[in-house]
Amino acid sequence: MPINEELLQNIVQEVVAKLEIRKDAATKHGVFEEMTEAIEAAKKAQQIVKRMTMDQREKIISAIRKKTKEQAEVMARMGVEETGMGNVGDKILKHHLVAEKVPGTEDIKTEAYSGDRGLTLIEMGPFGVIGAITPCTNPSETVLCNTIGMLAGGNTVVFNPHPAAIQTSIYAVNLINEASLEAGGPDNIAVTVRKPTMDSSNVMMKHPDIPLIAATGGPGVVTAVLSSGKRGIGAGAGNPPALVDETADIAKAARDIVNGCTFDNNLPCIAEKEVVAVSEITDELLHYMQTEQGCYQISQEEQQKLTELVLKGGRLNRKCVGRDAKTLLEMIGVSVPDGIRCIIFEGPKEHPLIAEELMMPILGIVRAKDFEDAVEQALWLEHGNRHSAHIHSKNVDRITHYARMLDTAILVKNGPSYAALGFGGEGFCTFTIASRTGEGLTSASTFTKRRKCVMSESLCIR
Ligand code: NAD
Repeated sequence: MPINEELLQNIVQEVVAKLEIRKDAATKHGVFEEMTEAIEAAKKAQQIVKRMTMDQREKIISAIRKKTKEQAEVMARMGVEETGMGNVGDKILKHHLVAEKVPGTEDIKTEAYSGDRGLTLIEMGPFGVIGAITPCTNPSETVLCNTIGMLAGGNTVVFNPHPAAIQTSIYAVNLINEASLEAGGPDNIAVTVRKPTMDSSNVMMKHPDIPLIAATGGPGVVTAVLSSGKRGIGAGAGNPPALVDETADIAKAARDIVNGCTFDNNLPCIAEKEVVAVSEITDELLHYMQTEQGCYQISQEEQQKLTELVLKGGRLNRKCVGRDAKTLLEMIGVSVPDGIRCIIFEGPKEHPLIAEELMMPILGIVRAKDFEDAVEQALWLEHGNRHSAHIHSKNVDRITHYARMLDTAILVKNGPSYAALGFGGEGFCTFTIASRTGEGLTSASTFTKRRKCVMSESLCIR
């Protein structure tokens, strides 16, 4: 067969371009060998940031937003390539959400009390240099999202990213500092180390110049941060159930749940991880999932094989996290058409593929005898994370009851989970949901100190 020279040249160019991105990422702004050097640089940058006007901070944030949009595809591709998780199309959307919907300085608001004894303001001031630990599931998204909020609050930030996503995280750090320099700001408003480790994380957590740590990840890191002796914002794990009752539009519930569950191959912590359905409509729901939503229902034997693969020796197999349904099925020797996007099966809530947070498009369906039973099972499955839960019902009293019982930071009603990120739902976007420590959806104001500024006797002009 003759070699198609044009094709060959295109491939070579693409490979060279990718290598250039990598080389670039490893050599530019905000990347240090040692954590102490990184903190020192971020401290110097914060001295400049804290004297900036709000307009100047906003100008840098606008430049970060612009670059995030321009580079969304590059970062999406890098994330998938480096971690082997998720899919490029959805990751592009996630970067657009960061660029468009993560709040900036408008989130920094002042409260005022005026009266006979004068005028008092409660203002939101910066902490200084914030330490941030980020996950491999949304690497550049979290770095960009955290920086926008932290900078809006007048802080700079030092990252200890997940080692499995370090190149993608470094790329985002570079982009941020380039945006700052282009907008007239300082270098090193966001910094990181070239090789993040547990040691560099410990140095960061113990450093006297880091007054606040924001950890986004699983239970281990949140516990570590909360034991650090510093103030910690803990955005931990979830296992969000989606409850469907007999009043719901079942075809729509099937569509919303599968869309939410398969978004970025189920990586978002807010994504539907299992379904609890009232028995009366369970068969109908399974029917729509299979006939209209590209779900493949696995047999008992396939469930067994999948459990052994995904929870190897009782531990989550990282090679399966963020993979698509077709790949997961191929891994257990099942071949399905391209349109299959989600694996489903019916099982008890204790089934390991249902009870564990898997972060892959496997959706166990738990049958409940009635709504009350469904709420109890959903509550058990959420494991007290108080992170996210979703419901499909047209009964407002039931929705209210579910929301009170589950008590989660996020609750989506009659929509896909990603509506909570601002994609098809109102409100702002964040990739750090502080479920464990109660701040909930973090934004610029979360990264500020409330300070009382009192003028006695004067300035009340009522
Ligand atoms: P992970 O817990 O493996 O890693 C997260 C980060 O913590 C990484 O930077 C890792 O290096 C670091 N880390 C882990 N254990 C540590 C320890 N003991 N001390 C210091 N640092 C430590 O999580 P992941 O696989 O990267 O991300 C997926 C997990 O994160 C899921 O559980 C998901 O639900 C959760 N998550 C939560 C949110 C949220 O906003 N609540 C957002 C995204 C992901």
